[in-house]
Amino acid sequence: MNNKLIELRSISKSFDGEQILCAIDLDIHDKEFVTLLGPSGCGKTTTLRIIGGFETPDMGDVLFDGVRINDIPPHKRQVNTVFQKYALFPHLNVYDNVAFGLRLQKVPEDEIRERVREMLVMTGLKGFEARKPTTLSGGQQQRVAIARALINRPRVLLLDEPLGALDLKLRKDMQNELKRIQKATGITFVYVTHDQEEALSMSDTVVVMADGKIQQIGTPTDIYNEPVNAFVADFIGESNILDGVMLSDKKARFAGQVFDCLDGGFAENEPVDIVIRPEDVDVVAPEKGMLVGDVSSVTFKGDYYEIIVDIKGFKWMIETSDYVAPAARIGLYIEPDAIHVMKKSEYSGKFGDYSTFSEEMEHLSDPTIGTEEEDDAE
Ligand code: ATP
Repeated sequence: MNNKLIELRSISKSFDGEQILCAIDLDIHDKEFVTLLGPSGCGKTTTLRIIGGFETPDMGDVLFDGVRINDIPPHKRQVNTVFQKYALFPHLNVYDNVAFGLRLQKVPEDEIRERVREMLVMTGLKGFEARKPTTLSGGQQQRVAIARALINRPRVLLLDEPLGALDLKLRKDMQNELKRIQKATGITFVYVTHDQEEALSMSDTVVVMADGKIQQIGTPTDIYNEPVNAFVADFIGESNILDGVMLSDKKARFAGQVFDCLDGGFAENEPVDIVIRPEDVDVVAPEKGMLVGDVSSVTFKGDYYEIIVDIKGFKWMIETSDYVAPAARIGLYIEPDAIHVMKKSEYSGKFGDYSTFSEEMEHLSDPTIGTEEEDDAE
């Protein structure tokens, strides 16, 4: 891992008496692609704005290269921002939009020409120099915004839901594009999104936030495979989350049975949350199953079936490539490494089986909701 570039130390922030960030600690390393991920309102944008200097923390320190920068204004930080609303200058063409920052700094025109050309190649905008922003697609406008933000060669680029306004296909293309640009420039990216798939596919490090607190920091694989609590397990991917007890190291009891698992280090008989991913459960004949249940629904998803199995009233979600008939009685087989044991937390019991899968979280994560509110406010 490279050197620490940005350090947030015990950052707290309230608005109108309501605490939005509670003692956030976060290290961001040089050349890292870090994503702040969480439901709407959890404090992602506020964290980003504190790094950019657009908000001041009530408590705590922001360090850049080891130096406290709490009181340094945004334009003196080596940081640039790309917002969801691109805010391009409508009367300037693509070339002049991208050149704008360098002209302000009175960089010689020869050098500007060279650097703009390099940026337009980098962002796939070669040939678009003379076009006005209104004649560009959403994806092209976003590329201009990125080129304009990168041309000053900031150490860090902050991106606040930059792809939120694009349709799904374009968003996927731009995700790959952004990842490529980040690697090619070696600039540290701090990216905000509420879209877990986007976060997992783009980032070196994912920071999962909820309720103004960091829940977990890790690589996409760590976050997916070893969620620390029921919130993270539920927010990232699909999960079956059950109440359990650790009888001893590597022995867990849940769903009325005792299972071998790989986890240890819990107190004897400690109550825990157990998470099992739908794709990690094997469907077998009832007599070979560790658990037996009745299939209550089958949905074809293209390359797998999503089935819901009722086992003593708990509805398991399972993904399988084998067809299973609705109402069939089936067995479930769970390997030790499919069982993830989590400490009980304030989120225990809030997310349960498939039938209680939190509609509230889905609602909070709906990208259209924030947009509507913003539109109303305008
Ligand atoms: P979203 O994805 O919806 O932008 P977020 O996780 O980025 O969510 P923030 O924008 O950081 O969340 O906002 C967290 C909370 O702080 C929200 O309840 C928001 O209304 C409130 N908030 C943010 N900025 C201000 C402000 N300047 N004044 C008052 N309240 C604010």
